[in-house]
Amino acid sequence: MRLIPRPIDDDDKPFEARGVFEICVSMVRSKALRARLLAVSQEVEAASIDYNDKAASARLFQMVRHDAVGAVSGAEMVQVYTGRMVPKGSTGRAIYNRIMAIPVNQRCPLCGIGTVNTLDHFLPKTQFPVFSVTPSNLIPACAWCQWEKRDYYSATSGGQILHPYFDDFNTDEWLVADVVVGCPAAFRFYSSPPNHWSAPKRARASTHLKQLKLPSLFSSNAGSRLSEIRSRLAILRQKGGAAAVRNHLEEELASIEAEHKNSWVAAMYRAAAKSDWFCQGGFEDT
Ligand SMILES: [Zn+2]
Repeated sequence: MRLIPRPIDDDDKPFEARGVFEICVSMVRSKALRARLLAVSQEVEAASIDYNDKAASARLFQMVRHDAVGAVSGAEMVQVYTGRMVPKGSTGRAIYNRIMAIPVNQRCPLCGIGTVNTLDHFLPKTQFPVFSVTPSNLIPACAWCQWEKRDYYSATSGGQILHPYFDDFNTDEWLVADVVVGCPAAFRFYSSPPNHWSAPKRARASTHLKQLKLPSLFSSNAGSRLSEIRSRLAILRQKGGAAAVRNHLEEELASIEAEHKNSWVAAMYRAAAKSDWFCQGGFEDT
């Protein structure tokens, strides 16, 4: 849902996958294993160039899943990540930390709600082990998003979730909420991209919400937000009627949209401001 900058090294250049891989394997004790790993570093680099090329044109769905990388098994490649990049004190940990620190305020770029607490492999490392430590494939994510995504990937264009380093879906408004009339009022979230988007692009917006189960997460957050603002809205309505409520919601919305037009809270305020029922007191819980 949020575009974030790609991982960069100390010289402000995108990390070279080969260099990262070689740092990670540099302290492997077994000489034989280390030699086998280093022998595929060129393959890791070539695969990462292909990755960045495909990701930049939304074609990662064309990536073919694989098992071994040269003479290195998939499990051994995955171990480079789990044993050489994740543990504190491992040779790759500084790179791990650097990628984790990319999102502003540690906000998960996949949902815009959770706090980053892990790196998720956009193309799952079990299916695409060559990308186990490729920086472009490592996405800072919250626990919710990582759990919901797990090993998901798609072989179709529209089935791809959004890639936070490459996919800017915030040029247009596409996340929408409806006010659900009830007591208390609720909000239902869905994607509604503009007509000029291609069919696969439209499908991806919907896939992203569905695969990460974001509508239920957004609805729950909207319910909490409504509880927090309810008494304020009631005071405004007493003083100035529905117009005062709407005016307040629109003012808040302008500030929220200036930051993220497709955040759940922007969609919630857009829906609330548009709803006559809500502004006329539908926000009350009695
Ligand atoms: Zn998340």
